[in-house]
Amino acid sequence: MTASLYDGDRPEVVRVVSKPARAASTTTTSAPASTTSTHTYDDFFNCEIVTFEVEGVLFSVNKRELQAAGPTTFETIFSFRGPRNGQTQQDAMHLEGVQISHFRAFLRVLHRNPYGLPTLSEYDDWIGVLRLATMWEFKEIRLQAITAIAILLKEMPTHEMILAGRTYQVVEWVRTGFVKLCQIKQITPEELRDPSTFALDWETIAKIYRVRELIAVEGILISFCTTCKVFTGLKFGLTGCPCQITPHINDLFQEEFQGMSMPVNGQSLYFEP
Ligand SMILES: [Zn+2]
Repeated sequence: MTASLYDGDRPEVVRVVSKPARAASTTTTSAPASTTSTHTYDDFFNCEIVTFEVEGVLFSVNKRELQAAGPTTFETIFSFRGPRNGQTQQDAMHLEGVQISHFRAFLRVLHRNPYGLPTLSEYDDWIGVLRLATMWEFKEIRLQAITAIAILLKEMPTHEMILAGRTYQVVEWVRTGFVKLCQIKQITPEELRDPSTFALDWETIAKIYRVRELIAVEGILISFCTTCKVFTGLKFGLTGCPCQITPHINDLFQEEFQGMSMPVNGQSLYFEP
């Protein structure tokens, strides 16, 4: 049964008339009239469907779920489009630059995994959710995606962590990635410039080496950190521990980090100067 949610091949679109006033424009000739002028809809159970088109596939979405997330980009879109807000297949709202797989994943989170669908577990699915939640300003879903991806990123290479952090404006991932770069025993500018991995700019590389320089001086005296529970020093292949390196990273990248956070409930995420 769940396969039909994914194939995008729906032989017939059956519209539910959401309000009596719209019956004339939304009822198809093949469907029987579902309302009469003497009936009114319940205040709560009056589900209104919005149809989106993504890469040629139509998605029917409960409008209330989109609106329940608070002020988002869709609020502006709905008010801008007026009556042409995707109530029929013909005026489906085209979502430019959105991948089908990302939109499906986003809707699963928005609708809290309907129809018994399993929770998302794949990195690419959650990245899609994060991308769309960031683009459309769904702050709670963005936070949900960040929390899920943070766990998955622990298994990913450092360059993926930095790239994801910079792309989706998550300070903690960028900071953690930079700390790792400063910790490892040896890394060359060529490795940091490599477009297939880190692809870092020269300014970032200069700052990373500056932190490594500071740690090289301080690190001589430290061999075990009781806070991080880690041995450091050349013998252990680590230049320093996170609590030693992080203040330097925060200092040198302060401007970038401050510009990255998207506030949730009035508070910026993961930035502690
Ligand atoms: Zn430490």
